[in-house]
Amino acid sequence: MAPKFGYNASPTREERELEHMLHLVWSLEEEGDQRMETVVSRWEQNDDPQPLVERVIGGGLAVLEDGEFRLSAEGRKRAEEIVRRHRLAEYLMSEVFLLDEDQYERNACEFEHILSPEVTESICTLLGHPPVCPHGRHIPRGSCCVRYGAEVKPLVGRLSDLSPGDVARIVFISSDRSKQLDRLSTMGLTPGTLLKLHQRHPSFILDLGETKLAVDRDIADEIYVKKVG
Ligand SMILES: [Zn+2]
Ligand SMILES: [Zn+2]
Ligand SMILES: [Zn+2]
Repeated sequence: MAPKFGYNASPTREERELEHMLHLVWSLEEEGDQRMETVVSRWEQNDDPQPLVERVIGGGLAVLEDGEFRLSAEGRKRAEEIVRRHRLAEYLMSEVFLLDEDQYERNACEFEHILSPEVTESICTLLGHPPVCPHGRHIPRGSCCVRYGAEVKPLVGRLSDLSPGDVARIVFISSDRSKQLDRLSTMGLTPGTLLKLHQRHPSFILDLGETKLAVDRDIADEIYVKKVG
């Protein structure tokens, strides 16, 4: 059976498994060890990966060469998309929804199969084209990143990355401490608020129009903003 390509909103169990295998080979390639024995030992599902390996090879997505499992050009393209969707989903759920690793892994494993190219681009753009997932692994670039990459300015970034004089609007605050969120909101720091960064050291001084506010680095790291002008 030749594997299907492109966006598929309701993948079968076989298609999911195939995507998991491509994902695994991609990760092993990053780690520099694609030996077949490593593929087998790292395959997390209980069943024997051999029939799946044969399916991947039969579909022209990878080859077995010198004892190494290597992606074909077509397999690499497909793996890159899966890995990109998975790692973007991890980033979204860990940084924005603040889920713990167990939860975001489970959800990312669902999302990686069903996100359409359009939704994937929107998520990437919303997050500011993040270069790495929460595990520090490279997120393959998409066409949205290439477009914005030319300017090297992500749409949404941390307040702590602004330079003095920058004007920005708060998009979201990523804090898992509700007390902290309450405190910030009493100070006027809520999504939608327009601010100007006055100085970065020794603390971040924000100009909120009527008032000036000093916040520490850890808080500036949790406030995500979109530059204006
Ligand atoms: Zn999955
Ligand atoms: Zn990750
Ligand atoms: Zn992007």
